[in-house]
Amino acid sequence: MSLPKIPLAGVIGSPIAHSKSPQIHGHWLKTLGLNGAYIPMDVAPKDLEQVVRTLPKMGFVGANVTIPHKEAVLDIVDIITDRAAMIGAVNTLTFRADGKIQGDNTDGYGFLENLRSGAPDWDPKAGPAAVFGAGGAARAVIASLLDAGVPGILLSNRTRVRADNLASVFGSRVTVYDWVKAGNMLDHAALLVNTTSLGMLGKPELRVPLDGLRAQTVVTDLVYAPLKTNLLQTAEHVGCATVDGLGMLLHQAVPGFERWFGTRPEIDRATRAAALR
Ligand code: NAP
Repeated sequence: MSLPKIPLAGVIGSPIAHSKSPQIHGHWLKTLGLNGAYIPMDVAPKDLEQVVRTLPKMGFVGANVTIPHKEAVLDIVDIITDRAAMIGAVNTLTFRADGKIQGDNTDGYGFLENLRSGAPDWDPKAGPAAVFGAGGAARAVIASLLDAGVPGILLSNRTRVRADNLASVFGSRVTVYDWVKAGNMLDHAALLVNTTSLGMLGKPELRVPLDGLRAQTVVTDLVYAPLKTNLLQTAEHVGCATVDGLGMLLHQAVPGFERWFGTRPEIDRATRAAALR
């Protein structure tokens, strides 16, 4: 009698030691009593394709993909979901029973789920969203906000050309502001999102003037170390509803876990604690 296979999953990146994903998935596997394992894998760019193609042969049912491989893996997968195509990057691979590799992107989903659960009164149609930053995370945030029905995006980035390039992907619904005028976006914003790494432990502080921030603006920060960034503290002081970035990390992990291990995990205090350990 053959024993059932142990489903394996993991996260591919380089470096990978900082990733919280093994703690999150490991916590769910343990608390749900599921058979399976989730491991960190440090893979150099030159080895990415060979590793991705070998994993299914080793019993892997899927994998998360993180920096610096999120864009490169687009050229390796057989099937790409609409949202991954729109975001232009893949963070979740599924090795299907028919041998095909599917690439998905759950970052935008995770961002929106976190926002909705942290600020249940936020209405996408209430007004435009101001976004600081135009990197990889910004693209997922903007795609998901427009998809949710936000009427427009006000976008500002230190390197203007990066914001212009991102705006050109989404068309006239995105208006770019110079970085020195980023504070002006706040007069009109129903939502403010920081997608830069500013405010993160070990990085410079966000210096955009926040005097224009209004109490009715919902404010969220993708930075989650520290959990309460200076931006969120200032926003709380003004009276804004605020949402920290840890929930995005947790919510983006849910679809992959459910697909690979067959059970939809809950996000609760214990999950947050596991991610912070
Ligand atoms: P990225 O592609 O490297 O983009 C970094 C962004 O930060 C760019 O807009 C960059 O502007 C800006 N920036 C960096 N240093 C700056 C400085 N000194 N002054 C002004 N702007 C600066 O990184 P990413 O993948 O988008 O990630 C951005 C942040 O989001 C990171 O802190 C990451 O940890 C966080 N994140 C969190 C989650 C979550 O689940 N909570 C998910 C994804 C990302 P330039 O273009 O001018 O360099």
